[in-house]
Amino acid sequence: MRNILIAGNWKMNGSRASIKELLDGLKAGIDKVTNAQMAVCAPSIYLADVADQLAGSAISWGAQDVSLHASGAYTGEISASMINDFACKYIIIGHSERRSYHGETDEQVAKKFGVVLEAGMTPIFCIGETLEEREKGITEEVVARQVQAVIDMHGAAVLGKGVIAYEPVWAIGTGKTASPEQAQEVHAFIRSVIAKADAGVAENIIIQYGGSMNASNAKDLLSQADIDGGLIGGASLKAADFLAIGTSA
Ligand code: PEP
Repeated sequence: MRNILIAGNWKMNGSRASIKELLDGLKAGIDKVTNAQMAVCAPSIYLADVADQLAGSAISWGAQDVSLHASGAYTGEISASMINDFACKYIIIGHSERRSYHGETDEQVAKKFGVVLEAGMTPIFCIGETLEEREKGITEEVVARQVQAVIDMHGAAVLGKGVIAYEPVWAIGTGKTASPEQAQEVHAFIRSVIAKADAGVAENIIIQYGGSMNASNAKDLLSQADIDGGLIGGASLKAADFLAIGTSA
């Protein structure tokens, strides 16, 4: 039986004041979430605040990206060990916004997967097709290629130490959610790709859905056999909405 993980991706949103209010709200309501682990992935500059405020709570926290490099002359970048200094459990890697705005390749994302694990944290590894790719009928080819990049570089057993977030790019921040059936079909396919390398890893790995998940559609998505949680953008910025997703699990 796989655990359910609901993780918030705050992206580049918030301020010290708004984050305090959001975390106060989450801490006040987290007891009602009984069937899922909840986490928030904050802008790195606020990780110290988040770590202070969530220490001792049932909510985990993490970052949204990491440098490929361990240290040195990489102005503006943040290393995995720096992120680990703030007791982070997760780092999101390969988000479609990193892939499209920063040109991150499958190979770089696969390297980041190893960087996060080596520093003792869990990668939330994002994959997913664009609208153009879906319309061309190559969704399976795209997600298989993205997953295979990590298997080829590190092996399936290492992939199994991370979490996958299937996020159809056309559903991110657009209000257009994949239907539960559409999402389930791709999740099952992703598991079948992993099963070719290691059936045990395929059975046990958490595969979250991401893309306009909210309090109204979470229950139907989370009831699908191969959907083990969500990576939530917009709806993770309000405590009530994020908690409502958690209680839908
Ligand atoms: C995301 O950014 O990972 C995401 C799923 O965003 P949203 O929930 O806003 O679509």
